[in-house]
Amino acid sequence: MTTTVTLTGTGVPHPSPGRAGPGTLVRCGDSALQFDAGRGTVLRLAEAGCALHELRAVFLTHVHSDHVLDLADVVMTRWLQGTLHASGPLPIVAVDGLATTFAARMLDAYVDDIEVRVAHVQPAPPQLDVRPFALPTEPTVVWRDDQITVDAVAVHHEPVREAVAYRVTTPDGVVVVSGDTRVCDEVADFARGADVLVHEACRASALHDLVRGTAFEHIFEYHADTVALGALAARAEVGHLVLTHLIPPPTTAEAEAEFAADLRRGGYSGPLTVGRDLTSVELHAPRGAP
Ligand SMILES: [Zn+2]
Ligand SMILES: [Zn+2]
Repeated sequence: MTTTVTLTGTGVPHPSPGRAGPGTLVRCGDSALQFDAGRGTVLRLAEAGCALHELRAVFLTHVHSDHVLDLADVVMTRWLQGTLHASGPLPIVAVDGLATTFAARMLDAYVDDIEVRVAHVQPAPPQLDVRPFALPTEPTVVWRDDQITVDAVAVHHEPVREAVAYRVTTPDGVVVVSGDTRVCDEVADFARGADVLVHEACRASALHDLVRGTAFEHIFEYHADTVALGALAARAEVGHLVLTHLIPPPTTAEAEAEFAADLRRGGYSGPLTVGRDLTSVELHAPRGAP
């Protein structure tokens, strides 16, 4: 069996060519799980060969607009395509609070459009299937199907509240998706020995002097400094570190290499990928495993 991890977006709120908003797709057998749905997610899923009706669930890490901008598009487009592919409502798994409130309201702006479509083509309005879980201060199972178990744990993205990371366990291994967080022990513990860690990355140390006195100085405080992240990945003995949500978005190979250099400076010597949209990593079950 093979589990495939695909970055559906590696960008941030400020647009950068070729980088959609944040999102990670994990596929194992006929299970396809999407983590966050930033700008352009529907297009990137199509490019990754994942039809919307194939998604079993979408998981939200937190409610910063860049992570949820395309969630309504995912839900609406899957609903529209329901005339071609029976799929049913898409489970939206999220912390009970800001994220579930966002999900519950997000189609309100489309109420007139929905009414017209129902009058003409669609058999019924879209159904929202929000699956709330309490903010988990300890790793907690939030999803399980026949192939995959997903745990969540609260991370540190304050002043944004209710941010979580997810850990996906498949027959092929373990994938951790950090969401947005400063480097923290919770992720280090959560990702210990993981085969793949998809982590946000911010060159805070390297750009410290450049951003002093600007809004970015404050913003960088709640993102993951690349040098400290290198130390975390080494300590947690991560199998493969995949960087996403790149701040600042690199536009050249040299700029990507600077992210990698920061990680090495922090002490991580293992496999490392500075993510681009549609970067994919495969996990294979150990030889002899069922
Ligand atoms: Zn954020
Ligand atoms: Zn973000």
